[in-house]
Amino acid sequence: MFFFDSHLDLAWNAIEWNRDLTQSSHEIRRMERERGQTFKARGGNTVSLPDLGKGKVGIVVATLLARVVQEQRSPSFCRYDHMEAAQAAAMGQLAWYEAMERRGLFRWIRAKTDLEISINDWSNPSASSQTPIGMILSMEGADPILDPSELEMWFARGLRIIGPAHYGVSPYAHGTATLGGLFPKGPELLQKMEKVGIILDVTHLADQAFDEAMALYQGPVLASHHNCRALVDDQRQLTDDQILKLIGRGAVIGAAMDAWMLVPGWQRGQSTVESTGVGLCHVADHIDHICQLAGNVNHVGIGSDLDGGFGKEQSPGDLDTIADLGKLSDILHQRGYRSSDLKAIAHGNWVRFFRQNLA
Ligand SMILES: [Zn+2]
Repeated sequence: MFFFDSHLDLAWNAIEWNRDLTQSSHEIRRMERERGQTFKARGGNTVSLPDLGKGKVGIVVATLLARVVQEQRSPSFCRYDHMEAAQAAAMGQLAWYEAMERRGLFRWIRAKTDLEISINDWSNPSASSQTPIGMILSMEGADPILDPSELEMWFARGLRIIGPAHYGVSPYAHGTATLGGLFPKGPELLQKMEKVGIILDVTHLADQAFDEAMALYQGPVLASHHNCRALVDDQRQLTDDQILKLIGRGAVIGAAMDAWMLVPGWQRGQSTVESTGVGLCHVADHIDHICQLAGNVNHVGIGSDLDGGFGKEQSPGDLDTIADLGKLSDILHQRGYRSSDLKAIAHGNWVRFFRQNLA
């Protein structure tokens, strides 16, 4: 059984952190500069191409991530003073995906036919680290888009999903940890996305922006890496009402594996995997909560975010690298999920969603 991960920041890791993702996670961890990383400790890399292959994580949604933030806190955390710089950074990340595609390491999924080839590749029991990873391109925070009129160009370059905001405010919408809705260019962006055939990712939208975007945009909607506010009370997570609205729109929600989104009361820089006991059982709790609200297993998948600015020190304790995703299936199986349910969660729901909604 293969896995589909709906949120990884691969190019950002490759470029901003200068990681050679063709090395295994353990090889990356052993590098001198990795041991010296202090931002959120980042030392314990968990995502690399060999480990994706080893864990049969055969299809991923991979991001372009470059934000506009006026007050620079860290020069290398995808933050730029102006949108043109964010665009240039995103184009650099896009060039990395193109280079990796030319090496045969990615199969870039631009259309349904590409998706079917990747599903075939990874449904084959002989799939291995040599099999190209299927990749759907997404943008986390629309800051690199200078104007909605650029969307045809971005679509032609392979972009299929946009989350209008990230942390803080984007030029189009309020995002995580802010209060507010869309900015004046937000509705135009959403209308143009719908017209061009770009899917809306609601992850990171502030609550008001979530409501406004869901009302304005009538195309397909997903939540790429998002957990439940009923279990971890923070605006970064989805309320039950938001989850029900997403289910009503046929969305799939990817369960995220950043420790602070899994267990309540995580204090950044203080809490540890050991002190909280955070594990894949907590990912299973969030998945189960969504299934109970839906009354079925059709609306949840995995959107691990495991390379999203944190490492092993902020990941489930029983996960060494992304190759361990199979342990999550074991936990769900012990809780009574049937093998058809496990398949739906591992990849089936995302496969159905993209079969229906890729332009
Ligand atoms: Zn994110």
